[in-house]
Amino acid sequence: MAVATPETRDRRQRIARRILLALALAGGALACKAPAVRPNVVFVLVDTLRKDHLGLYGYPLRTSETIDALGRGGWVFEKHIAHASQTVPSTLSMMLSRLPVDHGFAHRRIRQFSDRPPRFPDEFLFLTEVFREAGYATAAAVGNRFLSHKTGFSQGFEFFFQAKVGDKLTAASLRWLEARRTREDERPVFLYVHYVDAHYPYVDPKEHPDRVATPASGRLLFGNGLVADIAEADLAFTRASYDAGVATVDDEISKLVAYLEERGIFEDTIFVVTSDHGEEFDEHGGLGHGTTVYGEQVRIPLVVSHPRELEAGRRITRPTQHLDLAPTLLRWAGIPVPEAFRGQDLLGEERPILADNGVWRAVHAGSRKLILNTETGEEVVYALDDELDRSPVEGPVASDLREALAAYLQQEDAGGTGPSSAEEWSEEEKEQLRALGYLE
Ligand SMILES: [Zn+2]
Repeated sequence: MAVATPETRDRRQRIARRILLALALAGGALACKAPAVRPNVVFVLVDTLRKDHLGLYGYPLRTSETIDALGRGGWVFEKHIAHASQTVPSTLSMMLSRLPVDHGFAHRRIRQFSDRPPRFPDEFLFLTEVFREAGYATAAAVGNRFLSHKTGFSQGFEFFFQAKVGDKLTAASLRWLEARRTREDERPVFLYVHYVDAHYPYVDPKEHPDRVATPASGRLLFGNGLVADIAEADLAFTRASYDAGVATVDDEISKLVAYLEERGIFEDTIFVVTSDHGEEFDEHGGLGHGTTVYGEQVRIPLVVSHPRELEAGRRITRPTQHLDLAPTLLRWAGIPVPEAFRGQDLLGEERPILADNGVWRAVHAGSRKLILNTETGEEVVYALDDELDRSPVEGPVASDLREALAAYLQQEDAGGTGPSSAEEWSEEEKEQLRALGYLE
């Protein structure tokens, strides 16, 4: 009698999933017209990047010259929203096109993830896998240890490189691109680069004296959550250090763009820059991220350049969400969207946008946003144009906001908790997580 060991079960599940994916691709083939040239996709995720510290969203300093130029040559999304303010739930929502309540790796488990790595199941269908099945060469260079071989984030990547510092991630990405070229690999590429230089502990402002403020005094503040008695000089130094981190990543992005231009393939590349969440600098009495769903933590940049297909200089002012990014990229590449993806087109029908963060939930709909504290039951409404949620709107909560949130909370009651790995964090991984401020 055949016994299903975990290995054979895993293999069977993988094969079954491949067949389902192939069927989904075949079924959708008629609905989707392939572009004349299959575009490369370079997907840059800048961990911890709040939109209002970038020039293209009005920041007065020169933190983001490359990202600004990409925005001028492509599309800029003005009101893009992440579904959580922490790496794991937000990045999974983006790559799986599923809300936190649906993929189950929600923020309230983050402490468990610090004790033991989360394990994203093999049955999850990542955007990477869809590109690979459609004939793309796939590679990743990732700076965040929560997204690794161990946690299952490498599913679908033919090449997966991990390092903390941005210039190593860029160098590995360029080596991979160049090796493909010399091997005459004709496949288009899906390259995912995840930088963490703008994440705590940031970068010394002296490294970018002409692009960020260089305060004469002050020390680097750290805290995730409410912090009492923040001194103005310390806050200014901390902000400047953060800005230096953004400028460092911006320099790395410029090397990727320069390579694509030198090789004459920038025109046919969909180049995406976005983030997983923002960062608080005392807007609501705290620091860091993963603690609230206020604007400074969930309003993130989204810039897409594709010179051959997308007109330059378009600004999209309607609210958009991470759930819809993966389906949109697939459609632009002429690849049918698998049924497992819950999102639609970024510019399709407007729907409520959820953000989920431990005790906090938020729903963005129409021109307003409702924030609920699930512990106290307190509800507060803000105008969506009030980007940092500074002035609550008085009066009763509109029924559409309340209904959208109730529907989300109901799914939450139905379960959805992601598994932990059987493995432990290694000492080296623990060290890196500690440096990012995750372990106590
Ligand atoms: Zn993050």
